[in-house]
Amino acid sequence: MSYELVDGRVVTPEGCELNVAHHCNLGCASCSHLSPVFRRSVVDPEVVRRDLGLLARFLRARFVKVLGGEPLLHKQLVPILDIIRESGIAPRVLVCTNGVLLPRMRDDFWSRVDEVEVSIYPGRELSDDELAHVRRQAERHQTTLTVSYYSHFRYSYSEVGTEDARLVEQIFTTCQVAHVWRCHTVYEGHFFRCPQAVFLPRVIGRPEDPWADALPIEDRPDLAERLLAYLTSPRPLAACRNCLGSAGRRMPHHQLPRAEFLAPQRRPTEELLDREFLARLADEPDHDDGCAVADPEDWRARVHGVRERI
Ligand code: SF4
Repeated sequence: MSYELVDGRVVTPEGCELNVAHHCNLGCASCSHLSPVFRRSVVDPEVVRRDLGLLARFLRARFVKVLGGEPLLHKQLVPILDIIRESGIAPRVLVCTNGVLLPRMRDDFWSRVDEVEVSIYPGRELSDDELAHVRRQAERHQTTLTVSYYSHFRYSYSEVGTEDARLVEQIFTTCQVAHVWRCHTVYEGHFFRCPQAVFLPRVIGRPEDPWADALPIEDRPDLAERLLAYLTSPRPLAACRNCLGSAGRRMPHHQLPRAEFLAPQRRPTEELLDREFLARLADEPDHDDGCAVADPEDWRARVHGVRERI
């Protein structure tokens, strides 16, 4: 499925993302949203109201995914969930979390979300009791609960980047974030094709305009046409020069002290890329990236196997 223009609005077959807290309570190596480098930083609910209220006139999504950083760190998360619902931009509201704070969330949270996606990481798993409590809460509020267990991550970006334009094009065209999952992101009055285009320029500190990859969310009659042209453009983004798309080298998932987060990425794109997976994605755009499993027993076996090899 692709994008369509229906009654003056672009209809996307996937969602629209909102990073409500850019910082995180974990420090996952090569986090693709680069959260470990952000100090406490949250979105203003009134900015969300303004952006989604305007964008909803020109865009229709299947869902809004609320994430971060760690979204449960935002103290005004519940009002933000209401604002998203009121905007009418999508019929479903999802929250994507590492789960650490999930057992503490109260009924006012659970009653406002259609789905909670939990990503569990080695050493940061919920206890059996906590998970059972979370499952009961989800059931009580008829909230869909999806739990994914991560044993691996892929390098997400390179501080050095590459000058090889053909390689940048390959990374962009095989990028699942942009073309399969379509993680289109609303940030501070702007619409981005992917969250990496928001965060990479801000962290790498390159001289280019940090808004270079953005489309301003403006009240103008041709915004839907501009959105459609933006979303279907075959041109890589400026951020793709430093991004590894979906084809970074796979590594065992691990936590890093925040001060050590940047160092592993201080190598050129060429050294951090999984060429074999890049080629595979060209043939199978939605090929599994080998990082997560749904079955906790499979995950424990994988994590145990990784630890044994370390
Ligand atoms: S910056 Fe480019 S390669 Fe990276 S996620 Fe965005 S579109 Fe994909």
